[in-house]
Amino acid sequence: MPAWNELTVHAAKARLDQGTGTSRELVETLLGAIRVRDTQIQGYLEVDEADALRQADAADALRKKGCKGKLLGIPIAVKDLLNVQGQSCRCASRILEGYHSPYDATAIARLRAEGALFVGRANMDEFAMGSTTENSAFKITRNPWNLACVPGGSSGGSGAVVAADEAIAALGTDTGGSVRLPASFCGCVGLKPTYGRVSRYGLTAFASSLDQIGPMTKDIRDAALLLQVMAGHDTMDSTSIPAPVPDYEANLRKDLAGMKLGLPKEYFIDGVDPEVARCIQQAIRHCEGLGASIVEVSLPATPYAIATYYIIACAEASANLARFDGVRYGLRVKDATDPFAMYTRTRAAGFGTEVKRRIILGTYVLSSGYYDAYYVRAQKVRALIRADFEKVFQLCDALLTPVAPTAAYRLGEKTADPLQMYLSDIFTASVNLAGICALSVPCGFTSANLPVGLQIVGPAFGEETILRVGFAYEQTTDWRLRKPDHGGRTPDDRRRKPEDRRRMPDVRSQP
Ligand code: GLN
Repeated sequence: MPAWNELTVHAAKARLDQGTGTSRELVETLLGAIRVRDTQIQGYLEVDEADALRQADAADALRKKGCKGKLLGIPIAVKDLLNVQGQSCRCASRILEGYHSPYDATAIARLRAEGALFVGRANMDEFAMGSTTENSAFKITRNPWNLACVPGGSSGGSGAVVAADEAIAALGTDTGGSVRLPASFCGCVGLKPTYGRVSRYGLTAFASSLDQIGPMTKDIRDAALLLQVMAGHDTMDSTSIPAPVPDYEANLRKDLAGMKLGLPKEYFIDGVDPEVARCIQQAIRHCEGLGASIVEVSLPATPYAIATYYIIACAEASANLARFDGVRYGLRVKDATDPFAMYTRTRAAGFGTEVKRRIILGTYVLSSGYYDAYYVRAQKVRALIRADFEKVFQLCDALLTPVAPTAAYRLGEKTADPLQMYLSDIFTASVNLAGICALSVPCGFTSANLPVGLQIVGPAFGEETILRVGFAYEQTTDWRLRKPDHGGRTPDDRRRKPEDRRRMPDVRSQP
């Protein structure tokens, strides 16, 4: 029988429901795995063990009383920019040192209402700005498949702890790819919902017109389950959409016969690593074998996506981050003689280099004289990008693309060149600009044994469709059964079926 920490949400829930174990046992096993593995992976910024066990005991007590929640007793790791009442919420930034959330984000409150437990703050790029998690002010998270490589970002802590079985599931946020990229690099599932599908209330804003909260899970069914609980209108977020939430899990099992899947030709270009391209091509053939028909389509505005994204994201960030000035939240430098000195010195001391770069860029593109040339023009291009997607979704049901041009790269490889780093988002940022949905599902490995993610993109509110395609693909391949050695299994264990897996006593030492 697999160990508790290796389970998916639905498998853990089934085991708890059968009464073959308790949430306390689950959380104790998880904490044991975190203690051993996270010394190497460094996926968590904080884990409050006593609080985790207290939450587990409370869930067990509720279960005894006959309470039924869809997630009763299931622990979930949370990216450090989502507010969980009573927990710290630093956005991996020194400027929020000492801040504790006085309230739950709506997504958290909805998961809590179904019985979920919140165990651990997952590391991230400071304020979600980055693609590797190297911009965290506190620690560098490593990729469980190779500790010398990045886990992707900005939700890299969430991706790494799910992949290393240090979490059952996690939440990330995606502004330009930050759920999908770490899911691809770490070999788990990551879903970016349609803008407005999940409330942003209680999510510390980076770029408000792009941000969405998304699940990072061990399989598609779990992503459907978590989305189901989090989705829906919220009066606390005026951009959340009052559209009914379909039953995502119930619709997973429909097959792909008659479905049209588009390949945008601008996403199949020379710059894609040949090994990534090979995995994606195999995945496309596989979907064809499952009954889908494949059509080539075009998204002509794609070459402008990165520039457009970085103008809009920085502009919005420069406004959103103005609130961190030493007055209301977190850090305040001492010995400043006047308020202006206090604001500027607090911000100089509290923000890291990348955040400062974005604030400066954002302020510049919004400044009078440059506003029309950069910000307004970027908004016009954004409309073209959105129109491109609207057109192609008249020709097909979903798109298949790579998540990123490469698999995980080495730590430090791109930190010296921000523009190179920004190119990691080339296949993901357009989806946020268009406000549509997409997911990453594992679709193979490079010869260096690093996971590759297939991106499935859907129209606005097309989550049912992309989850269905992802599920059909996942259930007829076995990539999700492979586990990193760093997750505590010997190489022979890697391809075992979940039911055959034994619990290994220790993690292996790392090369
Ligand atoms: N890598 C992108 C950036 O740095 C995306 C970040 C995100 O989605 N939060 O802005």
